[in-house]
Amino acid sequence: MKNRIESFQGSTHFRLHYVADSVIAAIAAPGSGAVGNASIIDLGDIAMVVDTFATIQAAEDLKAAAEYITGKPVSYVINTHWHSDHTSGNQVFSPVSPIISTAVTREVMDTFARERLARFQENPEQLLQAIDELEGNIQKESNEKLKMEMTWEHASDREYMKSLPALVLSPPNLTFDRQLTIYGSKRSAQLLTFGGGHSQSDTIIYIPQDKILIIGDLVLSKHHPVLTNAHPQDWLDILEQVEQLDIEAIVPGHGEVCSLQELYEVKGDIADIMALVQDAVQSEKSMDEIEVPQRYQHWSFTTYFRSNLSKAHTMITNKA
Ligand SMILES: [Zn+2]
Repeated sequence: MKNRIESFQGSTHFRLHYVADSVIAAIAAPGSGAVGNASIIDLGDIAMVVDTFATIQAAEDLKAAAEYITGKPVSYVINTHWHSDHTSGNQVFSPVSPIISTAVTREVMDTFARERLARFQENPEQLLQAIDELEGNIQKESNEKLKMEMTWEHASDREYMKSLPALVLSPPNLTFDRQLTIYGSKRSAQLLTFGGGHSQSDTIIYIPQDKILIIGDLVLSKHHPVLTNAHPQDWLDILEQVEQLDIEAIVPGHGEVCSLQELYEVKGDIADIMALVQDAVQSEKSMDEIEVPQRYQHWSFTTYFRSNLSKAHTMITNKA
């Protein structure tokens, strides 16, 4: 058997970005089986991985990369939140490496995500049909940016379908409620939660010695945030607390390694979405009449801007 610690040759699913000697971001390649970003953390005598991608094949490469870079087996895996593009690869590490999350994230995975995966596995035809429809829409799309993004989504969906029959839902087996610190021989990692903003519960990982923050999908870099399971006001409140930390670099859930600037941009975008929808409701305009503001037009995955408007619309009109 090949010794994985000696054998990592790079991956088609992600590109490694050395944020510091201790923190290596695995940035998802477009159209791959990774989809969300992951990170490798070397605390000295302890190696950890944050998030495990959307497929088994991408997670296997992540495990090989982590072992190769740190020269150690992975002692812990942390899930920032339950979404499948950050957790589907858990089974590659579990049960040898404990998987850590908040108690709420574990609960959502063990119930909702478990049932969802079972539905997909029992009836993959539905997913295949959606993938075929997407393929048809790619042919018809005239906007080059949208066409490219749809092509990536289609390729990632195909990667997910390769994984689907072998996926075993592997929820975290070690949980915390507010804060957990893991002490290594050279540095420590603080796992913190301020509740749910992007999802029902979001964890951030802060490395104080290097001033690096791994933030999951609470911050995406030049990429529309995803409000599908979000509580927008709580999300903004969480970011207000997070920005108090001494931060030099942020590993976002999607997009390139960034800084506090991108955190401020995400706050601006969420506040703008809520304000645009509020104005439209008051002036009885339809959501279709709302244009993507100029400053967000170059961001990835414009389709989320539309779904974010409809999510905000449901929230605002239900409250009224
Ligand atoms: Zn997410």
